[in-house]
Amino acid sequence: MSAGGRLTDRIRTRCLYTGESPRWLKGSLTRLDNLRPIPDADESQALLESRVMEHLAHGGAYFAHPFGIARTRITSDGETIVHLDDRTVSESGDQHPMSTYALDCLLPTRGKGIYVPRADDLRMTVIRNTDLGLTRNGVRTLVLRRTAGTRWRSELADRESPLRETDDDSLTISMGSRLTWHWERLDLAWLGSGLLRRIALFHTSSSAYRVTSWRQRREWIFELDTRRDVPLGHDVLLERLMDRVWGLPLRIQRASCTCGNDGSRAEGTMKSCVFCLVHTGDRVGVLQLRFRSVPGAAGDRATLQRVSADPAWLDRVLPAQGESSALEVPA
Ligand SMILES: [Zn+2]
Repeated sequence: MSAGGRLTDRIRTRCLYTGESPRWLKGSLTRLDNLRPIPDADESQALLESRVMEHLAHGGAYFAHPFGIARTRITSDGETIVHLDDRTVSESGDQHPMSTYALDCLLPTRGKGIYVPRADDLRMTVIRNTDLGLTRNGVRTLVLRRTAGTRWRSELADRESPLRETDDDSLTISMGSRLTWHWERLDLAWLGSGLLRRIALFHTSSSAYRVTSWRQRREWIFELDTRRDVPLGHDVLLERLMDRVWGLPLRIQRASCTCGNDGSRAEGTMKSCVFCLVHTGDRVGVLQLRFRSVPGAAGDRATLQRVSADPAWLDRVLPAQGESSALEVPA
């Protein structure tokens, strides 16, 4: 294979994993790719990225890309730029700019006379029209970037008064167990950062039309909802996540796969395949992936069109009825 061919393959693969644009990669990959195709973050940067991932990735709305993250860009000088979608639609049908959604997930609020941040160890740094810088320690930075039209400054100014007036006692409860939480966050930082840097896999390598995520102590759970008549197609995502070069150092610890079982295909029963992945070495943490099809959950194609979801992706994960048999996750 020619060097050009290999570079093309690497660009294609990196796009699959990160959501990055081929055009940007063509101009950058040869400089970026010194050791691994997707570099690891150091410990401090990993914790920052993991915290942002944790707060943005709970789902609960309609997104064109997983959790409203179109791509994660890692520049040659180590900066991580998370590109957000334009907008999202809430479960109640209200449309919001993604910048508004992200601030809702991340911004501090006030309780008992002190500010209690949602992401209580993050601080804002650089604020430009399309970029909002976040840091944990003043050294490492992650940039949230939205397309033209975003005005982070005005969004923040709009929130100033409501933030001052909020007095939510319940938000202080978590402070008592802060030390425990801190260590649990450290434990899963490698996983959160690694997944944020491979965020597009949930879009390109899965048949799920919706992904939700939450943490339970040292376990990070992702629930991937697939329509009943579309194959769960978990093998492609698992293979790419565990890929020796492009993936994370993960292995399957436990698996429960029922999609080949005739009984699971019966109408009215939920199809569910669960995989628990752990580090191949000694890092703490479990990634639990739940692939499922819930009877009666058909997905909402019209709402995903409202957030400008890619038509080709929609045709794959929410095809017109009767057209799903030939549509599977592209290899
Ligand atoms: Zn299965």
